[in-house]
Amino acid sequence: MAVSYKPQLNYTDFKDLTEQIHFQSSEGKIWFGEQRMLLMNLTSLGAFRREIVNSMGAERAKGFFLRLGYLSGLKDAELARKLRPHCSELDIFLAGPQLHSLKGMVKVIPLEIDLDQETGDFYGRFEWIDSWEVEICKTELGQMSEPACWVLLGYACAYTSSFMGREIIFREVSCRGCGDEKCIIEGKPAEEWPDAKEFSRHFKADPIIEELYDLQEQLNSLRSTLQRQQGQYYGIGQSASYNRVCKMIDKAAQGKVSVLLLGETGVGKEVIAKSVHLRSERADGPFIAVNCAAIPPDLIEAELFGVEKGAYTGANQAREGRFERAHGGTIFLDEVIELTPRAQATLLRVLQEGELERVGDNRTRKVNVRVIAATNESLEQAVEQGRFRADLFYRLNVFPVQIPALRDRIEDLPLLAGHFLEKFHAQYEKRTLGLSDKALSLCMSYHWPGNIRELENVIERGVILTDNNETISQDALFVTPPATDKQPGERIDEEGNMRSGRPEGGTGSWSDTILGSGISLDEVEETLMRQAMEQANQNVSKAARLLGLTRPALAYRLKKSGILAES
Ligand SMILES: [Zn+2]
Repeated sequence: MAVSYKPQLNYTDFKDLTEQIHFQSSEGKIWFGEQRMLLMNLTSLGAFRREIVNSMGAERAKGFFLRLGYLSGLKDAELARKLRPHCSELDIFLAGPQLHSLKGMVKVIPLEIDLDQETGDFYGRFEWIDSWEVEICKTELGQMSEPACWVLLGYACAYTSSFMGREIIFREVSCRGCGDEKCIIEGKPAEEWPDAKEFSRHFKADPIIEELYDLQEQLNSLRSTLQRQQGQYYGIGQSASYNRVCKMIDKAAQGKVSVLLLGETGVGKEVIAKSVHLRSERADGPFIAVNCAAIPPDLIEAELFGVEKGAYTGANQAREGRFERAHGGTIFLDEVIELTPRAQATLLRVLQEGELERVGDNRTRKVNVRVIAATNESLEQAVEQGRFRADLFYRLNVFPVQIPALRDRIEDLPLLAGHFLEKFHAQYEKRTLGLSDKALSLCMSYHWPGNIRELENVIERGVILTDNNETISQDALFVTPPATDKQPGERIDEEGNMRSGRPEGGTGSWSDTILGSGISLDEVEETLMRQAMEQANQNVSKAARLLGLTRPALAYRLKKSGILAES
């Protein structure tokens, strides 16, 4: 039986619904039938909606609020059927719009209703007056670009769909929230809307977390592409001396020979080594970097070439070395000069025969590894002194590349500084305005004994000490302004203090100072050793040379004074 609504009917009488409201203030509860309700103020809900819109965008927020209304519509359709069991279809249906009014959401004026529960036919047209959502648009959100009565619309869809037993979709054909004269809604079965599918998607929860995972994945793949690109372009620089190095590297990468990287500490040898690897045909194989100075001499063989179970006390299980792990790829041996004589012999065999034996093993293993070695000392000199095998030196020295110090390519400093600024902005989630002109000019005239690594430390310190949207001053970079005429041996330590490699003043004055201050000889020795270790980047051999001692002599004293833990 089709029912057509005429607006003359006494639609405003819904006492039966009003009677369902009970205030149970002493219990802290308000009831509507069997549903617990809340009295909330509109402004707080408005502020909440603004926050949702701002943090996830209007489209996603719309989905949230449509679903909020939807749930409430389903509940009320159930209630309407219970409360008006013997009424006409139309009277039962009208409980929905009436409940909307009763709850203070909106005043609903039915304009046209055709419904038949048996056949499932439905058409409805309503005007919404004083929608709460239009009101918060005015106070909180400002005018929207499309209809804004989201919760109301979700309610209408759910209520009617539940009532009719089929999917009915309402659309707001005009809305005051987006500048129209009236809020008018129109509802009909989903099939009669051409874009029903798209609209219905709003009613499915759409967890943002999936999208975040997708984005994360994209980010990771972009990052690795970027790393590859950086590797291909050998780090950062445009200066002539750096370009010359890049051309050399380009040639070296294509071949199969060993490459020897020469240059001061901190010039970026590992970055260059990785570039060689990434530009070679081994790019898909592993790249293993080893700092030979960081591994205790008695462990270096096992670390590089592997060890068999029981080879020595503590070797509880067989383990592959770095060379085996680098099979099919490239190994980068930094500070190769620190290798023990036995490790030098094994390395020579790997280079000549492509095979090795693990420590304590007599099985020969084949390895296919390209070796890139690096040193900041003269290998030739080490050969003369008998510290380094001559035959190994010739093997490694097939393709030597000298990497310029930062002071010799100082025009690259602004680029490098920019690169590190970006890196530390990301790392510390900050955004400074970069170096001040004075700070930059100080950097341009400084000697940079620690090279690019020192620059990196200085920029990191600057970013840490500078607030967002402020310029990094020279004070943030350097604790004491560096002397910019070229003084050898000065550097900046981890705390950002300028350190001079030599004691200040003449020999007479510093000994007088110490004697006058009551410092003991042990303390002097300990301070000197710590200073030397720091300058040598914790490399014992290098520190020993600074102090004019042999390596074993210094190692003994370091252990005795507790500077170096027993290994
Ligand atoms: Zn509206």
